[in-house]
Amino acid sequence: MTPRIGVLAMQGAFREHIQRLCAIGIEASEVRTLDELRSCDGLIIPGGESTTIARLLLAFELMEPLRRRIAEGLPVWGTCAGAILLARDVPGLDRPPLGAMDIRVDRNAFGRQLDSFEFDLNVRGIAGGPLHAVFIRAPAITATGPGVEVLAMLADGRVVACRQGALLATAFHPELTADPRLHELFVTIVREAIARRAAEGAAAGATA
Ligand code: GLN
Repeated sequence: MTPRIGVLAMQGAFREHIQRLCAIGIEASEVRTLDELRSCDGLIIPGGESTTIARLLLAFELMEPLRRRIAEGLPVWGTCAGAILLARDVPGLDRPPLGAMDIRVDRNAFGRQLDSFEFDLNVRGIAGGPLHAVFIRAPAITATGPGVEVLAMLADGRVVACRQGALLATAFHPELTADPRLHELFVTIVREAIARRAAEGAAAGATA
């Protein structure tokens, strides 16, 4: 079964994520409503402006439903502003984030001098050599809880990618490069979640 992947389309780089998913044969759709949120097997929260996306999630009454779906096991990948929204702790964000991942994220962590930069990153679990990563007014992941696996660091040790179960956070923009490997990783996470749910459903059926 082909997983249905949604991309939160409130603001930011959602079209680019949809194009990248199409390029690897995955049909992706824009998510702006509760019904669209309900119908996806995995969700990407794109880069953009985290304060704006948080406000729009509240205005569209999607913040609580999204928190509930994540608590039920929905795989979510946050890139840049999306990673900020997934975090538990974001100093200075004027609305509470989703609080789904046990991480602290510092917004605009690289300051004005390094407003935007690119770096070849080794990402744990991704074969085939380093991945070219584009950082734009990027955050850094400055604290991780015990259930969080660090996937990538810059040369100075700053964490820029991590995973907690079916949740993935990257501080950079994989939708702006042609390298499909992170999108493929997320599709694998979504497929695993679908398989797990099917197995749980079958086990529940067998004991009913
Ligand atoms: N600096 C932005 C914020 O805090 C994130 C930048 C991005 O997503 N490229 O929301």
